[in-house]
Amino acid sequence: LGGFDHPVCVGLEVAGHGAAFPKASGKPDEIFETDGQITKRPVRALTLSALAPQRDEHLWDIGGGTGSISIEWLMCDPTLTATSIEPRADRAERIRRNADMLGQDRLNVVHGTAPDALTGLALPDVVFIGGGLSTALLEWLQTSLPAGTRLIANAVTLESEALLAHWHETLGGELLRIELAQASALGPRRGWKSAYPVVQWSVTL
Ligand code: SAH
Repeated sequence: LGGFDHPVCVGLEVAGHGAAFPKASGKPDEIFETDGQITKRPVRALTLSALAPQRDEHLWDIGGGTGSISIEWLMCDPTLTATSIEPRADRAERIRRNADMLGQDRLNVVHGTAPDALTGLALPDVVFIGGGLSTALLEWLQTSLPAGTRLIANAVTLESEALLAHWHETLGGELLRIELAQASALGPRRGWKSAYPVVQWSVTL
């Protein structure tokens, strides 16, 4: 992409600023067809920054959801490739549609559940976990992937957050807690509406 002249992007109204399609990661949620399972724009921007794509790298996007992480990864550079793993058939199909609609045909969509579905896939340089975080998955990744593979995991529930705290203690890396709030109507006035905090672990295996 670049994307500025893609049919879906021309005429996209970005928060009332007229037709525009930003180059930076953290593109408007509205460019994706979604059932709501999507990493929202501000957290997606921070996640792409942590993924830090470099030329020719391959991403595994575990828990593809809407596909927004894979698609934004691919938009960073034409040499990048990605595999999105998603157990729900309707979501796997939606990821394919979103990728095609946004011109990102370098996305391989795997309909399956991690870690089982990971066996036999072309090895990644970077792994993102946006769903399906478990001890079994982390153990599989640690024993199956070569040292030097970068891993980024986002957790929203207390259970998955506890898992990341434990693995951070063992393997190191960085833990970031992302707490965001957006102004919204509160009766006739306004108040801060908090999103669930996201804990993000970044580590090099
Ligand atoms: N990052 C995505 C949203 C992820 S939502 C986006 O921005 O579009 C989390 C997804 O993880 C859900 O679609 C869910 O079906 C998927 N999931 C849950 N368990 C999984 C597992 N074991 N392996 C792969 N995906 C899983």
